[in-house]
Order: sequence, then structure tokens, then C-alpha cells
Amino acid sequence: MPSSAARARSHRAEQPGIADLDLLLEGLSSQERTRFGQIFEVHLTSGQLVPPETMHGWIAQHFGSVEAALEQRIVKITNLVTHEGSLFNELRARRPLQAPPGGGDLEEIIHSTEGGSFCHPQEATPADAFGRVQGQHAITASNIAKYDGWHGVVIFDDHDPLRFTAEQVADYIDTAQAWARKAHQADPQACYPFFLWNCLWRSGASILHGHAQMTVTRGSHYVKIEALRQAARRYREQYTTDYFTDLIETHRALGLAIDQGTASILPSLTPLKEKETLIIAPELNDDLKAAIYYVLCTFIEQFGMQSFNLALYQRPLAATPEPWEGFPTMVRLIDRGRLLDSTSDLGAMELFAQSVVASDPFRVAAALASAQRSRG
Ligand SMILES: [Zn+2]
Repeated sequence: MPSSAARARSHRAEQPGIADLDLLLEGLSSQERTRFGQIFEVHLTSGQLVPPETMHGWIAQHFGSVEAALEQRIVKITNLVTHEGSLFNELRARRPLQAPPGGGDLEEIIHSTEGGSFCHPQEATPADAFGRVQGQHAITASNIAKYDGWHGVVIFDDHDPLRFTAEQVADYIDTAQAWARKAHQADPQACYPFFLWNCLWRSGASILHGHAQMTVTRGSHYVKIEALRQAARRYREQYTTDYFTDLIETHRALGLAIDQGTASILPSLTPLKEKETLIIAPELNDDLKAAIYYVLCTFIEQFGMQSFNLALYQRPLAATPEPWEGFPTMVRLIDRGRLLDSTSDLGAMELFAQSVVASDPFRVAAALASAQRSRG
């Protein structure tokens, strides 16, 4: 059955985007609108400018037309439950998502760094006190400069950080999970696991060889994960429904949910940064792992993604004083932009206020859905 948003869309010539959110919301049923309003608040505003004649050529070249720039629609979306939020500028959101070619030397750069310590992990990286976990396509090492008491690295057999198969991605995650269980066994109080994958230098990765990382922390989960747990609890108390289910269904009603078995792939309405996509599954199961591979592949192939941050939120490995029932397994992925860009994608707005985002979640969803169709 087509979503309400899809029904609303059929009346318009062009694929609507984030700037048409008010129209899309009108197309929802009253129940869907109520649920949307429990989670999100939307404010539309416009910014105006008066360019001198001498700037017209430049503006038309960069933004399509002078008229498009004169009055710019801004969509401000706030998640009232988690207090996450984004600002979308229609002018930026309408630009194509494809990264222009320009990373031509990337393969050469990656190739030129072969032979480093991660190419020889057994000899050139430290082990943890409990040893190493050997996966099918990766091996673990102990991180030299640790974020936390338990901090390991999953070093991929494949040097190239942007080349992997579905089987390899699943193995990297399984290897990290096995490492977390070993760390927890060695230190039962360390029971809060976290998996992170920074790919290439824009994302903060310091070593070019393919790798991901994992930690297990004590006391309570990391602040952002604990804040999400508490927000979801408050939501349940207030509305007696499950926050994560409502979040998925709200995205679905707008045409922003793609299913991969039991996993839901959601281009976020409040992305932290470009193309943030959530993958939510009841457990860390095969569907979730397949969905991670499929989203990474689509972003690399369709959008030319070169550098990304991926994080995996999951429940603790043991019983804890605070309740975790209903907390799903959730992946967050953002595109960190082109490797050769010299400006950072994060500024004071993202760090201290509300994220400014150029990529339109509706375009991300369309690309993911079409990639899924072509995969059959
Ligand atoms: Zn290497």
C-alpha cells in the first residue's frame, strides 16, 4: 500500500523534497499527523537577499537561477523527544547529491600506503590482555592510545578502506562483538559495548588501512546513548507507545523508510550531518548487517561517498540497574564529504546549536529505494 506521502506526491509533477514537508504532512492521516507531532516540530521560514547586478552571473552559475537565491526557504526540524534538530536550506537541498569527480588520486593514495602496521597486525600491533579475536576477514588488536579502558581495533584483511563485500562487513561486526564479549568476560563491570567505524581521514580515521573500532565501558553507557534511552523512556511514559516504533512509522508514512527484513532503514528527518541514515532492528541480526552493507554500498556507488562515520548503539552485555527493555539495535551513518575538501563540514552550528544540512532525506530515500529495487 503506498504511504500517505506517496499519495500526496502523485499529485505533483516533481518529486517533492524536504522543502515540501508542509504539503507532505497535509497528505498524512490525522493519526499519522498526531504521531509526527509527538516527535517532530517543523518551522518554515525564508531568508531574502538583494544581490547587486554584478553578482547575478555568479549566483546563476552556482544556484541555477538568480530568482532561486532571492528568497530561500529554510526548513527547521526539531526532534522534541531527543532534542536533535537540523536546518535545511531548500537552495542547497535541491542541488544534486552526487559528489563531483575529483578524488581521482584516491586509489593511488590508498595504494601508496600499503605495507604499514595494519598490513602486518600480528607483528606490528599490540594484542589485548586476553589475546586477539581472529575473524574470517579481520583480526583484532588493542588500541595503542585508548578512548576508554577497553578499546580495540578490528583490522580488516583488505587494505582498501572503501572496498568490502556483504560477507566482510558482517564478519567485521561479528569480530567486534566477539571482542566485546571477551573484554566483558575479563572485566565483568565493563558491560556497555560500542562499535564505531571511521572511514578515511575526513571522518577522523588516522590510519588509512581498513579498520573499525570497539570499546566496552563501565558505570553507564556513553552519554548520547544513555540520553536516547532516557528520552525513549519518557516518551513511553507520556504516550504509552514505543518511541522507536513511532519513529520508524513516522518516517514510513512520509516515504522515508526502506525495509531490509526486520531492519528499517531511515534517512533521518533530523540528520546530525550529511545524509544521516538510521538503521533500526530489534537485535543485532543478519538483516541489520545486510542493511549496513547495502546502505554503505549505495552511498559509495550512487553518491560517491569517500569518508564516513558509522556507529552502532546496542544494549549492555549484562543486567544493569537501569532498564533497557525495548531499546533496539541502532546504526547511525553520516557522509563526511569529499576527501580533498579543505574546509571542515562541522562548525559552531553543528557543535553548539543545530546542524545545518544540505542533503535532502527524501532524495537519500529515493536513491536507497531504487538501489534496492535494482538489487531485486
Ligand atoms: Zn594496509
